Amino acid sequence: MQLVVISGKGGTGKTTVTASFAYLNKESIKVDCDVDASNLNIVLQGEDIESSQFIGAKMAKINKGKCIKCGRCASVCRFDAIKDNQIIELKCEGCAACKVVCPVDAISLDDEVTGETIITKTDAGILSRAEMIVGAEGSGKLVTEVRKNAMKYQKDNELVILDGTPGIGCAVMASITGCDVALIVIEPTQSGLNDFKRVLSLIDHFGVTPLACINKYDINEEMTLEIEKYCEDESVEVLGRIPFDPMVQIAVNELKPIICYEKSIAGEAIKNIWEKINKKYKEEIV
Ligand code: SF4
Ligand code: SF4
Repeated sequence: MQLVVISGKGGTGKTTVTASFAYLNKESIKVDCDVDASNLNIVLQGEDIESSQFIGAKMAKINKGKCIKCGRCASVCRFDAIKDNQIIELKCEGCAACKVVCPVDAISLDDEVTGETIITKTDAGILSRAEMIVGAEGSGKLVTEVRKNAMKYQKDNELVILDGTPGIGCAVMASITGCDVALIVIEPTQSGLNDFKRVLSLIDHFGVTPLACINKYDINEEMTLEIEKYCEDESVEVLGRIPFDPMVQIAVNELKPIICYEKSIAGEAIKNIWEKINKKYKEEIV
């Protein structure tokens, strides 16, 4: 079974929940799909045991020795990435149109490294993650690679827990597709509700079973009730409410999952949510 923890935007407590789930099922395979700002490894710590460069794009290169400065390449480039017979790297999308029209075969398309994929061995099991190069394109492809890497470590149909990418872009689609269940972490604010609605429609589109939990529910109980009512109307099961807990900040500072703190009320709520997932899917969870 693949369980993705997701939210409409960053900073809703998604990683706090995922890191705790990782500790509650150490046999599971963990995947950090937030390739732009991976941070699950900071909480889970551990040792990197594998890494490789990820070729996620192509870039045109002009051989100045061959170029006869005819200008055909610039006129076909739809991305305005060629000026004065030179490639503007930040604009090139690697579409190869320029290469096709060049009369003297002066253009080549070179591989572009867009990130690094990493396997980290943590106290809570294997974590697959990546670090994308700042400004690089194609985070969706990198997420797909990170998920593929994780599956190499799945020996006995172990649960896969994914820390999903926030938002609704193509990296999010890459983190949701093929998952069985998505736990959506919602913030009790108007924008939290709007983000939730957007992410829910995406989850529906991919045929993934949605579940919800409300983080810091007590900072706005009226909005919490509104979100719960919306979930009821949309037949989305709310597995729990996580209270605001100053101990979460202490856990973040001390780089530990919140469930490691016995007196944490947020940790207790997350454990209860985990128990419900466990009970609900006990057949599928190894
Ligand atoms: S590969 Fe495509 S985007 Fe890049 S310079 Fe050539 S035509 Fe433009
Ligand atoms: S099409 Fe080829 S020869 Fe013409 S300007 Fe571009 S690189 Fe140079």
